[in-house]
Amino acid sequence: MSSILITGGAGFIGSHTCLQLLEEGHYLYIIDSFVNSSPQIVERIERLFSKGHEKFEEQFNLIGGDIRDKILIENIFKSSIENKHAIEAVIHFAGLKSVEESTLNPSLYWDVNVGGSINLVKIMEKYNCRTIVFSSSATVYSTDNKCPLSEDSQIKPSNTYGQTKVTVENLLMSLYNIKGEDWKIINLRYFNPIGAHPSGLIGENPRGKINNLFPYLNQVASGQKKELRIFGNDWPTKDGTCIRDYVHIMDLAEAHCLALKYLLQKGKSDFLSLNICTGKGTSILELMRHFESVNSCKIPYVFVDRRPGDIAISFASNDLTSSTLKWSPKRNISDMCIDGWRWQQLNPNGFEK
Ligand code: NAD
Ligand code: UDP
Repeated sequence: MSSILITGGAGFIGSHTCLQLLEEGHYLYIIDSFVNSSPQIVERIERLFSKGHEKFEEQFNLIGGDIRDKILIENIFKSSIENKHAIEAVIHFAGLKSVEESTLNPSLYWDVNVGGSINLVKIMEKYNCRTIVFSSSATVYSTDNKCPLSEDSQIKPSNTYGQTKVTVENLLMSLYNIKGEDWKIINLRYFNPIGAHPSGLIGENPRGKINNLFPYLNQVASGQKKELRIFGNDWPTKDGTCIRDYVHIMDLAEAHCLALKYLLQKGKSDFLSLNICTGKGTSILELMRHFESVNSCKIPYVFVDRRPGDIAISFASNDLTSSTLKWSPKRNISDMCIDGWRWQQLNPNGFEK
């Protein structure tokens, strides 16, 4: 059992990962500002946790606050030492993730994603905690690369959001290069996480404008949105719609547990970037047809203009991740559609009543 600080642990990927880490017996400190999540996640995770209320109270500590708050982060490290559960590693999810918003409000994105990370690693250094799993993204890759992407494909993000992710990867690389400090670092580059916990109790809870395909698809299926607007049917793909590498959120959560285990067991410093993907590309129309078939529903849709900044095809190899972490995705597109839709049906307004 280890003590782990999880930033952004109330969010989509964080909440699913926290549940698995709890089940593995870890002691969690979670910091989240709830800018894109809800404190109601606590009660949901507790309901899913198999070991009962007392263990939950002991293992799960959620602190509301901002990763840019130096005093707060430092206090979390201090109290972890006082409680004899000194933080050994960090999983750093907290950040803003809308490509569009990052273009409209770049200073906010630099401040939260990069400023917040700098604040975090400075305090980690001070408290001698040098193990971190960082949430990076497929957006770090150049759009000129051929698919399948691999970890050594060219890095050249085309938007502010992606640039903040590369900057944090570079920051972590420069820490790894400090002689004698023994940083152990994994950047997980996620492709398109969708789906939900099979219980339907936790899932993606986007606030404000919905930009991503899957939550939008869910809301069309539930009747909350009239139709799916498919951005372009003239892409150079087999059916003219964009291709992405969708990965089930439960597989993603498992990858985090394995990345953490790998680093904690590692006797020396390390720096790795790993793709979290299935290696399979699925077009928008294919995803929609799967969704309709496994959930017995009809999705009204229209084709509209391409979305600025989109790319035709994005999928990647997970060979390095499989060989390093002994991870491979266990769930397929049908599982993603079934589990994601269950979450939507049980929680039409996310965590809001
Ligand atoms: P999410 O928005 O559900 O989770 C992020 C969490 O961080 C939220 O709970 C939010 O309230 C919190 N947060 C944001 N700013 C904060 C701050 N300043 N201080 C403290 N907490 C803050 O998003 P997610 O999908 O779970 O993504 C988690 C991470 O993975 C993000 O860094 C994101 O950029 C990255 N990522 C996500 C995807 C994706 O498609 N979901 C893909 C690639 C990378
Ligand atoms: N997309 C779409 N309609 C929507 C949202 C997304 O057609 O309402 C398309 C988008 O153009 C892209 C794909 O779905 O080709 C996946 O988009 P998403 O934003 O989910 O992920 P990303 O583009 O970041 O991979």
